[in-house]
This record gives sequence, C-alpha cells and structure tokens, in this order.
Amino acid sequence: MVYSKREKNASRAPASVIGRVPPRGGLSLSPSEGERDGERGPSITVSNHLFLTPDLAWRQPIREETFARFHDWAEQYVKAASDADRAALERAGVELAAQRRSELSALIRTDPERALELAVPLSIREALPRTVTGLLETRISDRGDLAVLAALPEPGKESEVVPTWRTASIGGTEYKAFVYGRRLGEPTRNNIPLNGIAVDKLLAVNENPVRVLEPEEASAAKARLPKTLCPISGLSSTVNNQEVVVDAGGQTLCLCCPSHVEKLNKRLVAAESGPPGSSGSVSAADQVAASTWTEGVKNLILIRVDFSD
Ligand SMILES: [Zn+2]
Repeated sequence: MVYSKREKNASRAPASVIGRVPPRGGLSLSPSEGERDGERGPSITVSNHLFLTPDLAWRQPIREETFARFHDWAEQYVKAASDADRAALERAGVELAAQRRSELSALIRTDPERALELAVPLSIREALPRTVTGLLETRISDRGDLAVLAALPEPGKESEVVPTWRTASIGGTEYKAFVYGRRLGEPTRNNIPLNGIAVDKLLAVNENPVRVLEPEEASAAKARLPKTLCPISGLSSTVNNQEVVVDAGGQTLCLCCPSHVEKLNKRLVAAESGPPGSSGSVSAADQVAASTWTEGVKNLILIRVDFSD
C-alpha cells in the first residue's frame, strides 16, 4: 500500500487540509473504479508508483496546504463557465502557483518522491493560463548521467560539508538531483533513462526508469507511432486490449499489458547495474537487454588447490 507511510503523518496536517478531499478522491483507486471511469484499460491497478500517474494522484487527498489550495483553485479555473470568470480567477492563481513553486522547490530536496506525486496532470496544465503554467514544474524525460559525488570534510568541519550529493546531466543541462528508494544506494550511472520533475536546476528523479503516460499524452504519442509492438512479447500492443503507453528515456513504447510494463521497468533497472554499454537501450524489442551481471546462466570454473607441502 503506497500511502501507508503518509497516513502515519497525516495527523500532523491541519484539519482544513485533511478535509479537502477531491470529489472522487480516496486513499486508493481500486481497479473497478478505474473501470467505471472508463479512462484506463480494464486491469490497470494503482498497485505501485509505476501506475500512479499525475492524473490519478491529483484525485487523492492532498495534505500539504499550499498544494491543496492550488489544486482547488485549478479545479475551479478549469470548470469556470466563462472567459470573464477565468480572468477574474487568474490573479489568485498566479499567487498560489508562485507559493506552490517555492514549496515544491523545497520538497524536491527533502522528499523527492512526494514532489513527484504532486506534479500537475497534463489535462489540467493545458487548461491553465500561461501566467500560471510558467510557474509549474518542468517535466524531464530523457537519457542522461546520474552522478554521485562525495566530499571528505577536514577534521572538525564535518557539520559544514554535505558528504554526498548527486548531479544529473540531461540534454546538456546539469541539475542538482534528489533521489529516493533504490536510487539512494545507486552509484554513478551514465546514459540511463531518467525522468522526473524540475524547478529551476533542482530535479526530483523518479526511481522507475519507465514512466506511464497520462491518457492525453498516450493518445497523442500513439498517433505519432507507425506500428506498436510490445517490446516484451513482440506482439501487437493491442493484442490483449490492455495497452499501456510508456516513456523510457524520452522514447515512447506501447506495451500489451500492465505486467509487461513492470517487466520492462525491472529490465531497465537491472540494465543500469550492468557493465558499461548495456544500460538499457530500448530502440527495438530485442534491445531491452537483460543485465548479464545479474541474469542468465553462469559458468564457473572451480580449481581445487592442493598444496603438496
Ligand atoms: Zn507485452
């Protein structure tokens, strides 16, 4: 259960925020709810963060007051009946977005996982004025280098020096990178699929190399693809009627079922720890190479040493 960690902390949030539950919100989205909404394939469940896309997270309770207020404002703006109503709301939105940006910037440093959960869905972004969207996070998705750097402080100056930090070089831009989960133990990796959200030069890095696209993104991306074969099964991505469209390092892939999304994600994670050069190219079905370091049959040569003296 994804939110158990957060529920523990919920009691510390102000009551006004706890009460601010979006209309269809709940702590979890069951598969049947997804079906009722008809927005997703029949068997996609929000069982882990891989499938918790911003459009789904947006409907869950938001306990951080600034983010909850921005959420409510955006919903009001999107549903406003006329241009005049929207114009009247814009100024308040710019103020809320500016406040949200400064808090998001802090959250990327302290809790990058939560920062990612609070990303504004594309369907909402597209309906907001530029004065507001210019203040939202930037979405990053490309291949790049994630480096771990360390400093050894002089004796007595331990408290003044940050011992380790990370940088991400993506598309010619260098970010100060913040990670969580498995990436906390990950050493420097070059040319791996990375995605996350950035505010200025601060980047929250998703621990999953695969990012499931939101419905609007998925249909737009699919329209650009000539044919869509699942990179895991090699079959048409629509064969099971459970197609999922994902991004991996800036590349769109269509998979035939949610379990193949998890499989692709696992393979790319494994490939990150493989030898140089095998860091998970996904340009064609068979190029999602399993890591030769962690998978497959291994040959061992056992030499018995028998010293005669
Ligand atoms: Zn498949």
